[in-house]
Amino acid sequence: MKNTPLLKLKNVSKFYYNKGVVASGFSKVSLEFNLGEFAVITGESGSGKSTLLNVLSGLDSYEEGEMYINGKETSHYSEEDFENYRKTYIGNIFQSFNLVGSYTVYQNIELVLLLNGYNKSSIKTKIIELIKKVDLYKYRNTKVSRLSGGQKQRVAIARALAKETPIIIADEPTGNLDSKSAKSVIKLLSEIAKDKLVVIVTHNYDQVEEYATRKIEMHDGKVREDIDLKAYKSKEPELKEYNNITFFNKIRIGIRNTFNIVPKFVLTFIVFLFVVVAFLGEYSGFRQAEYEEKKGGYSDYFQNIDDKRIVIKKKDKSYFTDTDYESIKKIENIDYIVKDDAILDTEYLVVSGNYNFYGNIAGNNKITKVDKGRLPKEDNEIVIQGPKYDYYLGQMANEILDSSFELQTIFDTKIKDNLKVVGIIYNDDYSGYIHKFYVADAILKEIRTSTNEQYSKMIVTINDKKYEIGQYDAYMRITPNKAVQKGEAIMSYDLNYLCKYDWCGNSVIKVDVENLYYKDSKELKVTYLYTKYTFKNLLEGVYDEYNPRIYISEEDYNDLYNKEPYQSSIFVKDVKKIYDAQKALNSKGYSTLVIKDTLNNEAAEVLKVINIFKIILTTVLFVVLFFIAYFVIRLIQKSKNVYYSTVRILGGSKRVIRDFISIELLTDFNMAFLITVFFVILNKNNIIKSNFISDITSYLTLKDFIIIYIILTVMSYFISLRYARKLFKSSAMKTYNEEV
Ligand code: ADP
Ligand code: MG
Repeated sequence: MKNTPLLKLKNVSKFYYNKGVVASGFSKVSLEFNLGEFAVITGESGSGKSTLLNVLSGLDSYEEGEMYINGKETSHYSEEDFENYRKTYIGNIFQSFNLVGSYTVYQNIELVLLLNGYNKSSIKTKIIELIKKVDLYKYRNTKVSRLSGGQKQRVAIARALAKETPIIIADEPTGNLDSKSAKSVIKLLSEIAKDKLVVIVTHNYDQVEEYATRKIEMHDGKVREDIDLKAYKSKEPELKEYNNITFFNKIRIGIRNTFNIVPKFVLTFIVFLFVVVAFLGEYSGFRQAEYEEKKGGYSDYFQNIDDKRIVIKKKDKSYFTDTDYESIKKIENIDYIVKDDAILDTEYLVVSGNYNFYGNIAGNNKITKVDKGRLPKEDNEIVIQGPKYDYYLGQMANEILDSSFELQTIFDTKIKDNLKVVGIIYNDDYSGYIHKFYVADAILKEIRTSTNEQYSKMIVTINDKKYEIGQYDAYMRITPNKAVQKGEAIMSYDLNYLCKYDWCGNSVIKVDVENLYYKDSKELKVTYLYTKYTFKNLLEGVYDEYNPRIYISEEDYNDLYNKEPYQSSIFVKDVKKIYDAQKALNSKGYSTLVIKDTLNNEAAEVLKVINIFKIILTTVLFVVLFFIAYFVIRLIQKSKNVYYSTVRILGGSKRVIRDFISIELLTDFNMAFLITVFFVILNKNNIIKSNFISDITSYLTLKDFIIIYIILTVMSYFISLRYARKLFKSSAMKTYNEEV
């Protein structure tokens, strides 16, 4: 009975198509091979020997004829079928060894076993045995690139033996070896050939003559001669089923490959670092623009539109107590509190005979230094901040520091006199003529009273008739005066016509005060009526000839207007975390208003267009980054192509290789990202100080980092896919030969 041949070619031809030119690798070759044979193929260079071996190994396709594996026809075989065929049937040995130079002897042999689904620990003894068999035990942990040619080929043989395949195909295994090494390699091959099919190509027939069972001579792509030399024992092949590489081994090898060749790792790392930093910078610029856009608005209601400001009220509409402020101060990210926040949105004048400054009162800011003069010590000492280019603050600074000032509302109502400017702070910009006045807490209290009055509706009821006194009316105005007793009022004689019988003496008038935050009222008994002539005897201050007034005691006046604050503002330290502070305030029972969110922005439409433009720009930059990264990485990884084609030759599928590449690039990317984050954290905690890092990250939140991480992970993954796709455009052998 005749056995089925292990391999059978029937009129098989292989052509190469190169840019329209067809070259023949070999044509109409018919051969049969059986287990136990030691078949030697000879022939001059270019006669088609390597092409034939590649087709037999399933490394290359054929165009014509039929090939049978163990009786099975293969013309319908898919790439995957051939991958499986290579897995179970073929061990290859090449003239140029096809080893992984950066792996040790052990790792080279291990690789083929891991690729075929073995467990790392279960193969240790087997690998060591194989290494001993090829006499390289001493070199088991040496990198293969350090070995001699003969030693390398022995590693290749051990590797071919590791997988227990019935066929060993060796293409000029001794081509690069000296005669002594060549001899030992051939001897080794012959020993393992006993129960396998060995097909070997050689130039040097003498070397193999004593072992050969068959000699095939090729000439010009055809078989010229095919002689059986010796009898051999044929039998049925024992086929071992191999699995796919396990998930963990894939990761393990992918990570090993990342760090394997240090310069390559470093270069790829630098590329990814560049990508991460460039993208962070761009993304951060994007966020910054968004932020500036909000900041750049104006408000109809608030003058102080500091983006760090939050206006707070109590939900129960009561006034703030010291306990409230203590608990607010404990919230994270609170810089300072301005208790009387109305002063922030009101303009005041600081005037003396010759000078006159216009601006806002700064809250209880703690100033620590001034540019001219000194810090204030007394309650009546103030500091003015303004542009250096302001003539009065600049040139006339000494005179300013010498004069006495009065604080007034913009309607020239006096709030406080006898103030001394003791210090000047300069702004670097030309920011107009809005100044800032730093005043002591005691004065803030008086300002509050005046501000409360300014913002309140004042209604005077005389003889059951209500008179509303306008915000800036002096006529009938309720005015404090030291000479008046509590509960009493001294009224102008000119107002007598308002009362019954034109006489107001001893009548009771009512004063109602109402503003956004509170209502209050007082009933006062009119004790005197003053005239131009009696004013001096009854009251203090100056007689107002044109506006008849109603003078009341300072005590009553303060009761009406000198209230504890009902509305305050807090300023945060870090504007990026302003909403956390807002949340904390809300949960403590305060209503809040983040000023920067209330701003109108007339330029918003224009900014929207600019924003779309920025999104396009960011996308373009992203695509450009992708391709730069892709091409540079391809260049850096180019010599790894040898590695990947080797893995393919060893039976690694496309998928496995693609995964190796993905794992490798993703590991490298993650390192770059982690290092970046590490430095960002160091910078944020002031352990290192880098303006560059601050610039590119200060507008980013944790969420942004997560988004960037996801985007760049996907990008790295696509780079690896694209790279893998390019790699598979040509056959494993072609890739290999191109690179070696
Ligand atoms: P040998 O191994 O006997 O020296 P090869 O099998 O390498 O010969 O080559 C056989 C023929 O096929 C030669 O004419 C060679 O030029 C051609 N050939 C081999 N590989 C390719 C290829 N990738 N593209 C085009 N022609 C090829
Ligand atoms: Mg050849």
